[in-house]
Amino acid sequence: MTATISATARLTGQMIIAGAYVRGTGTEIRAFDPAAGRTLDPAYPHGDGTHADAACAAAADAFAAYRATTSEQRAQFLDAIAANIEAISEPLVDRAVAESGLPRARITGEVGRTTGQLRLFASVLREGSWNGARIDPAMPERTPLPRPDIRQRFVPLGPVAVFSASNFPLAFSVAGGDTASALAAGCPVVVKGHDAHPGTSELVGRAITDAVASSGLPAGTFSLLFGSGPGLGTELVSDPRIKAVGFTGSRSGGLALVAAAAARPEPIPVYAEMSSINPVFLLDGALDSRGGDLGRAFVGSLTMGSGQFCTNPGLVIAIDGPGLDAFVAAAAEALVAAPATPMLTPTIAQNYATGVEALSQSAELVARGLPPERETACHAALFTTDAPTFLASEELQAEVFGSSSLIVRCADADQMRAVAQRIEGQLTATVHADESDLEDAARLLPLLELKAGRILFDGWPTGVEVSHAMVHGGPFPATSDSRTTSVGARAIERYLRPVCYQNLPKSLLPSAIADGNPDRLWRRIDGRLTQD
Ligand code: NAP
Repeated sequence: MTATISATARLTGQMIIAGAYVRGTGTEIRAFDPAAGRTLDPAYPHGDGTHADAACAAAADAFAAYRATTSEQRAQFLDAIAANIEAISEPLVDRAVAESGLPRARITGEVGRTTGQLRLFASVLREGSWNGARIDPAMPERTPLPRPDIRQRFVPLGPVAVFSASNFPLAFSVAGGDTASALAAGCPVVVKGHDAHPGTSELVGRAITDAVASSGLPAGTFSLLFGSGPGLGTELVSDPRIKAVGFTGSRSGGLALVAAAAARPEPIPVYAEMSSINPVFLLDGALDSRGGDLGRAFVGSLTMGSGQFCTNPGLVIAIDGPGLDAFVAAAAEALVAAPATPMLTPTIAQNYATGVEALSQSAELVARGLPPERETACHAALFTTDAPTFLASEELQAEVFGSSSLIVRCADADQMRAVAQRIEGQLTATVHADESDLEDAARLLPLLELKAGRILFDGWPTGVEVSHAMVHGGPFPATSDSRTTSVGARAIERYLRPVCYQNLPKSLLPSAIADGNPDRLWRRIDGRLTQD
């Protein structure tokens, strides 16, 4: 795929509404370089309700033509976006590093993850089972009643509003997983960019806009807005032309959008990925054989990216004993040498400091990392408490976004299971187990299935593979809808709904469910999967 993006590096400070570059009229925001402690040009004036209205109108206009494109046309469009992003990877990485304070290697990896996600959805489109094609052939002779011809396939919901995440300036922002899956489904997308990285957003927005044009798609297929969440963001969610919402961020922000969507005359689904503390269960055999190694590896996961991952291990649960003592000693030794690294925004750094202060009121401090030179850096923290105290406290379960974690010491396996039963819904639950622990692990597993979207053994929750079997979801408050995932191939299902066609004239049947299987899809015919 040849890139079609035009000249790149000069940022304009403008929004993009259906292919047109538009300057906002509201509050001017500028990105902040948390590593250098300075603001970055250009200014990005916020948009308002008129801009949200224009973007939604264009998306609604584009919907009929965009959803009529073939899977192959949309796959080529996603490939074109990926190629355009790769063509600007140098200025893009420079800008995203400056706007996020994240290390260059991490951001470079995120460019690859972003283009990889786009291409994953292109492959999902080409493979075709996303159509969910089912055919129950007519049974005219059936008694006492004949069966009609019944066929089913998925169709896109309509325009989708996507809220960029602060902590993934690329992979969960303008062309991130929410946008890629919605575009794959056949839904036009209106993105509200995050104020923390407007320059990165503009560059990626241009890459998508150029791909829209070169693919011959309606301009309203994509828009990028900047604006306040409670203002422009809520207007987007409330706009009757928007039919679904994708969000990654705080519990309060996600819940505000869920409430706004539910208050509409026509309520719509909000797929909000919010808060998770990702419990890690250390079983006795594993602790006894490698408690020290686990402690060091845990700190690596805890401090990666200043702990600004939704899968950061914020809770460790284990039974008291020498193995746990070895874990705690090794973790403390590693943590005191951990440098304070920049956090994404001054607000996130402030929220982190407040969260750590709250933990220090109710739990015992084990260790802190190296002290920060700037207020916006993350001063890592590790606390401990006992299971009865944890079980009695809601505050100890609150997400502290950053490199902070709490070790819960249990008296026995029953207490450990009581903690597993008490915790809220999570994106992940991790178990470290040796062969001798497998019976205990088997008793834990059914509890964890009710709490988490992903259960992992002998690893660390940070690092989410983008693949077909991945689940990045989980019961509330990890997400607002535990039936889906925001990472991986199944994310497309969030923006689709099934339609059943009964006794349609053959000439009107969509190709996915037409006789003769012109698209060569795997289809469920009379309940049996076949490519016939
Ligand atoms: P955020 O405050 O939830 O903001 C995310 C997006 O939602 C922004 O575009 C924001 O707009 C919008 N928004 C927030 N509150 C809203 C409301 N009441 N109504 C409508 N829109 C609203 O998240 P953040 O800026 O990324 O970080 C703040 C905190 O969120 C962090 O300190 C952390 O605690 C948490 N967080 C958690 C995760 C996670 O994965 N679990 C990820 C990121 C952040 P504005 O910018 O205009 O407010």
